[in-house]
Amino acid sequence: MNKVGFFRSIHLKFVIIYVLLIFIAIQTIGVYFVRQLETTLKDNFKATIEDRVDLLAYYLEEQLSKDRNAEDESTPTLQADIYRLLRDYYSDDVTEVRVIDDNKRILGSSDPDNQYLVGQTAIDTIINKTLATSQPANEERIDRSTGNRIWRLVTPIETNGEIVGVIYLEGKIENVYEQMKQINKIFASGTAIALVITAILGVLLSQTITKPISDMRKQALAMAKGNFSRKVKIYGQDEIGQLAMTFNNLTKKLQEAHATTEGERRKLSSVLSYMTDGVIATDRKGRVILINDPAAKMLNVSRETVLSSSIVSLLELEDEYTFEALLDEQDSVILDYSDQPNPLILRANFSVIQKETGFVNGLITVLHDITEQEKIDMERREFVANVSHELRTPLTTMRSYLEALAEGAWEDQEIAPHFLNVTQTETERMIRLVNDLLQLSKMDSKDYRLTREWIDFIPFYNRIIDRFEFTKSQNVIFERKLPDHSIFVEIDEDKLTQVLDNIISNALKYSPEGGKVAFQIEDQEGFIVISISDQGVGIPKENLSKIFERFYRVDKARTRKLGGTGLGLAIAKEMVEAHGGKIWANSVEGKGTTVSFSLPYDRTEEDEWE
Ligand code: ADP
Repeated sequence: MNKVGFFRSIHLKFVIIYVLLIFIAIQTIGVYFVRQLETTLKDNFKATIEDRVDLLAYYLEEQLSKDRNAEDESTPTLQADIYRLLRDYYSDDVTEVRVIDDNKRILGSSDPDNQYLVGQTAIDTIINKTLATSQPANEERIDRSTGNRIWRLVTPIETNGEIVGVIYLEGKIENVYEQMKQINKIFASGTAIALVITAILGVLLSQTITKPISDMRKQALAMAKGNFSRKVKIYGQDEIGQLAMTFNNLTKKLQEAHATTEGERRKLSSVLSYMTDGVIATDRKGRVILINDPAAKMLNVSRETVLSSSIVSLLELEDEYTFEALLDEQDSVILDYSDQPNPLILRANFSVIQKETGFVNGLITVLHDITEQEKIDMERREFVANVSHELRTPLTTMRSYLEALAEGAWEDQEIAPHFLNVTQTETERMIRLVNDLLQLSKMDSKDYRLTREWIDFIPFYNRIIDRFEFTKSQNVIFERKLPDHSIFVEIDEDKLTQVLDNIISNALKYSPEGGKVAFQIEDQEGFIVISISDQGVGIPKENLSKIFERFYRVDKARTRKLGGTGLGLAIAKEMVEAHGGKIWANSVEGKGTTVSFSLPYDRTEEDEWE
């Protein structure tokens, strides 16, 4: 924010207000005072002159009524007496005094320069008026020759109630105005000095108000930048002091609120970054304003580059949706970003951020990774398809053989037993398949438990190999490479029997005539590894990991012929893993296969037993 210039500042306004107030006060007092003073001065001036004129009138009346002997040269003439009286009367206030008799004849003048007027007739109306009415009269007028103001007074001279003449007087009332001018001058300079002092005081006084205000302004600026440590100085307990105190209080509250908001923001951002779902928020135009780490990871984008870009293009939905259509989308949208070999399927849910008025503020998109779920669903569908297929094949075979029997083949001594044999084999295969499926489903269920017992593995294993050796139908040589000491392991005997049955029967199944099947046990750190090797057809390298999947068979036609269900190794894998071991296979195509599995084995524990 810019600094406030001096001419727009409250500082100058205060000074102007002070000066104007003082100016108006002085002017009001001045006008009233000057008018009163002028009136008083003028009244005094007039009263003084009138008093003296009254006295003069008294003397003149005496002179006018005095008997004069014209021949007596010792007595002065009337004119001479009047002149003497008038000359004595002369003062600074008076310009001229004249005496006029009742015939309007001028009897004398105090002005030596105007003596030529004596004996002439007075023509002033003001004189005629007094002569006619016997009433004194006065007026102010401008002297045309000098331009000064003069005051004219006409007073009657009476003897025994009869008017015998008048005194005409011109007073220098201009003196009073001069005096007033002087006083006004003093007043004006006094006003100027008072205003200068007021202005200086105003500057100083207004500082006491503006300083705390400008302090608060600085503090507000600091607060806007996030600095809450400043405090406004409190200069007093007046309103401004209280304002400063309230301001400091407000700062504290704001700091607390800021800390809370910051905490909430941090909480929200850690929730957003630690949650597994992806979250993307946009503004009302569909531009990304927030994207959390999981969302950026799922979409394989960097947070910085996608901010402000369009959500529709970010989710690659331009062909199907506009931003407005997304706002209306109630259902979740499945987004398939799979590219070989990385499957990625996301489910997007959209929710609109709306004000109470219905105004759309933005859109929140929640992305959920459903790749795993989709994979499970797919596997389930595949499994059901596989089971149906596996059951349909023997059933179809049986139906055709039974149809043939029903159509008359049963009478044929040679064919009938063969046909019945086939249906029997197929039935057994179906039973095996169903048993295997039941076994797997039991292991999939949560309450699947092993009944473990400590047994010596070597005699247990020998018994199983013996069983195969006695019942084998083909010419296969058995080779045992077993340790001669006991190996005690905690296992479920039935389950491990099944594992070994499945692996050994495979080895025999795929062994050629005269082939060798080797049985080996290795004692490794924390494990024993049981391996069964044959010299059969072998398994191509790329299929090695898949043979443990349900229903997987390398050569479908051949294995079916050999009576396999494709579930044997899958069951073995589940069981070995339930025992805490692992199962794997090594093979060289055409040369043979080795299927191995490990079981946890602790030699020290065994020593304790002994
Ligand atoms: P099956 O009942 O069909 O034998 P398995 O799950 O036991 O099912 O085996 C899966 C597939 O692995 C078999 O179909 C076969 O193709 C292959 N296989 C298993 N053991 C051997 C082996 N010893 N030699 C060659 N191929 C084998």
